[in-house]
Amino acid sequence: MLPTRGYAAKGPTAPLEPFDFERRDPGPRDVLIEILYCGICHSDIHQARDEWGGAIFPMVPGHEIVGRVTRVGPEVKRFTVGDLAGVGCFVDSCRTCESCQAGLEQYCEGHITWTYNGTEKDGKTPTYGGYSTQIVVDENYTLKIPTNLPLPNVAPLLCAGITTYSPLKHFKVGSGQRIAVVGLGGLGHMAVKLAASMGAEVVVLSTSKIKEQDARRLGAQDFVVSLDPKNLDALANRFDFILDTVSAPHDVNAYLNLLRRDGVLALVGAPPKPMAIQAFSLILKRRTLAGSVIGGIRETQEMLNYCAQQNIGSDVEVIPIQQVNEAYERTIKGDVRYRFVIDMKTL
Ligand code: NAP
Ligand code: ZN
Ligand code: ZN
Repeated sequence: MLPTRGYAAKGPTAPLEPFDFERRDPGPRDVLIEILYCGICHSDIHQARDEWGGAIFPMVPGHEIVGRVTRVGPEVKRFTVGDLAGVGCFVDSCRTCESCQAGLEQYCEGHITWTYNGTEKDGKTPTYGGYSTQIVVDENYTLKIPTNLPLPNVAPLLCAGITTYSPLKHFKVGSGQRIAVVGLGGLGHMAVKLAASMGAEVVVLSTSKIKEQDARRLGAQDFVVSLDPKNLDALANRFDFILDTVSAPHDVNAYLNLLRRDGVLALVGAPPKPMAIQAFSLILKRRTLAGSVIGGIRETQEMLNYCAQQNIGSDVEVIPIQQVNEAYERTIKGDVRYRFVIDMKTL
């Protein structure tokens, strides 16, 4: 076993603190990765505080992982020692169900092994995430990291990047389309960059007036403060597609009403409480309310290659791990431009 140092929450109201644990020795198809950077996703906060239910403690969060391979099992083919490597939200899946066979492991109908707050294939050994010094992952669930982007800016692509890229692709967002991104946070700012790079006209709907300049710099044509209902009324029936990245409870009907006939609103934000849907928000214009979760391994690699080619990284604030609890509070307040990334050598 490999002694590993991390930061863990011991319970839903406990701050994260240093935590020593063991990783398995790499098996024949595993790579051992020294973690260099790990992003802080709002999902880390929802889970560390058990806002979605079913949390497993102690919990070492972190699923936006980049690092360097320090050991490979004898049957590993795609990585050698010294390679950069990335790990996202899951580290294994059943590999046999229809979704896994289709390369959509994120929708696995069997047992998916989440990077943390999950269990290994045995269904009982807990998994620990990227706020740690090293991780052992099957090479088939490990991503190749492009070398032309700075590593701290790449880490958030492993969740925020793929979570926004996947629905933009699935719903065929591109030139000639008007789209809106709701919430300019970690996911939202990636959605703006990616959608703009795909040729769409992007409007940001935000509760934070202060983010307007940033939104335009990231590629948005327009910025609308969503707090005033009058501002939204002016956008009624306007958008082909809306990506809702909001982490907290909000009125989704206000955004559905901005879709034109046959428009789609995809939720990627995952507020802990159920939301109320007005039937008329959907039926009068044959609108679709959809959802999307991260992306499969194949598509995640495609997104990383696309970002490398388009020179798209995340806007980050790099912090030492000792500031992780403060970073959580600032993320909840929307006070991050636009993703905190932990420099793991501070651990
Ligand atoms: P984040 O950085 O905290 O951004 C969320 C943004 O939502 C904030 O920046 C803010 O934008 C807006 N917001 C926050 N509270 C709000 C409120 N009360 N009313 C209206 N808007 C509010 O979070 P993130 O890391 O991007 O994650 C966003 C959500 O996506 C989380 O729920 C997370 O769990 C979920 N998520 C889902 C997936 C998936 O696969 N579907 C993957 C990753 C994360 P403004 O200041 O611009 O209003
Ligand atoms: Zn995430
Ligand atoms: Zn499966």
